[in-house]
Amino acid sequence: MLTVYNTLTKRKEEFKPIVPSNVKMYMCGPTVYNYFHIGNGRSFVSADIIRRYFEYKGYNVKFVMNLTDIDDKIIKKAGEEKVETNKVTQKYIDAFMEDIAKLKVKKADIYPKATEHIEEIIKMIKTLEEKGLAYNVNGNVFYNVKMFNGYGKLSGKNIEDLESGARIEINEEKNSPLDFALWKKAKEGEPQWESPWGNGRPGWHIECSAMSCKHLGETFDIHAGGNDLIFPHHENEIAQSEGANDKPFVNYWLHFGFLNINDEKMSKSLGNFFTARDILKVYPAEAIRLLFTQTNYGGPLNFSEELLQSAKKGLEKLDNLKSKIDEAMKVEDSNQGVEFGFDKFYAAFEKAMDDDFNTPQAVAVVFDFVRECNKTIAETEKPGYKFYHLVKEFLTRTAEGVLGIMDFNTKESSGASLEKDLIEFLITLRLDAKKNKNYALADKIRNELNALGVELQDSKEKTTYKKIEAN
Ligand code: AMP
Ligand code: ZN
Repeated sequence: MLTVYNTLTKRKEEFKPIVPSNVKMYMCGPTVYNYFHIGNGRSFVSADIIRRYFEYKGYNVKFVMNLTDIDDKIIKKAGEEKVETNKVTQKYIDAFMEDIAKLKVKKADIYPKATEHIEEIIKMIKTLEEKGLAYNVNGNVFYNVKMFNGYGKLSGKNIEDLESGARIEINEEKNSPLDFALWKKAKEGEPQWESPWGNGRPGWHIECSAMSCKHLGETFDIHAGGNDLIFPHHENEIAQSEGANDKPFVNYWLHFGFLNINDEKMSKSLGNFFTARDILKVYPAEAIRLLFTQTNYGGPLNFSEELLQSAKKGLEKLDNLKSKIDEAMKVEDSNQGVEFGFDKFYAAFEKAMDDDFNTPQAVAVVFDFVRECNKTIAETEKPGYKFYHLVKEFLTRTAEGVLGIMDFNTKESSGASLEKDLIEFLITLRLDAKKNKNYALADKIRNELNALGVELQDSKEKTTYKKIEAN
């Protein structure tokens, strides 16, 4: 039984999709005015693993992630760079696509853009206005929070507390400081669209209500995002969607913990961030993902370079086994393969992931599996092709397919690159030996490498090597 922690009910619940075998999932995506940081990356990877696990379980997943391509920050950036807003957004949408691909995050089925859904947004605001849930003041349309029964049910806040805690805003147009903009009146020189309330642009919250409704329906299974979005963004989405459609909006709300630096949320505004793009220049996606998966998706994760280093080190165990598999599977044999309890490991992996996507536990299962395999390989003279095939299948489905901490498609694992570095180091040593006229040592290095299946080839400029193919 798959259970998920639902922010709405504040407990773990059995996951039951609306349509059997189908999962409709929406995730709040980036505001595209900058490269995303590794904190955003954590949320994208968390959603990716959840989506991949549903697929592993045989669900047909429709995964939608919006792109916020109209917003104050985008307009500001375009102003600074003296370009049109769509120039800014296109640049960062392209960068976003590149970076999530490098992070091995699977592509969403749809990436709807706010600017391409103005019609749907206007329609929803009109419905809210007709129902008395929205009001227009001089071309600015606000949501009337007090008119929606149930405001605060996601975040556990109540209207009275919120109002007394709210800053006294200097906005005489709003009935209550909690009311929020659905439609913003156009300002000179800013992107704008025609509407029944005059030219303007949509507010942020309504984009997600309108786009999720269009692509996933009025009620869908899962809505996800970082913890910072619970209030007010997701609370407002519920008020808009349920207010407009008179139907439950989302059955399961999933929220991701922050990635912190020195116990402080990594954020663009605080300036304490590393872009995913920069980190990916130094670390493989698998190391970043291993670091993320070692903490539960809902809890905070303190980020440091040391932790990333040790995650990278942890990958060596996986890469070493991968090299053994690659080597052993070069030659097929009909050997039935040594007995091995694969079912036990699949069951343990699924038990972990079924428990609200407990990735730390699932990662532990993968590493136990690797240890057991190494033991079997060491103790068995010929484990057999079939054994290696099943080992690879397990790792492909779990470590690669769900967690994304391995990649069987890359030619060179870090184990292989270590091998390359070592051979090159020995070639340098041999060169030094020759310079010192220590021909005995130089020959010894050549002969030992040859015995290990590595043939050195000397030319005038340099020494190269090639691996001797096994017959
Ligand atoms: P943004 O581009 O800021 O709207 O954020 C995109 C996604 O990243 C949202 O789901 C945010 O909740 C999430 N997010 C932002 N900062 C962090 C952080 N430090 N740790 C984890 N997730 C974050
Ligand atoms: Zn959203």
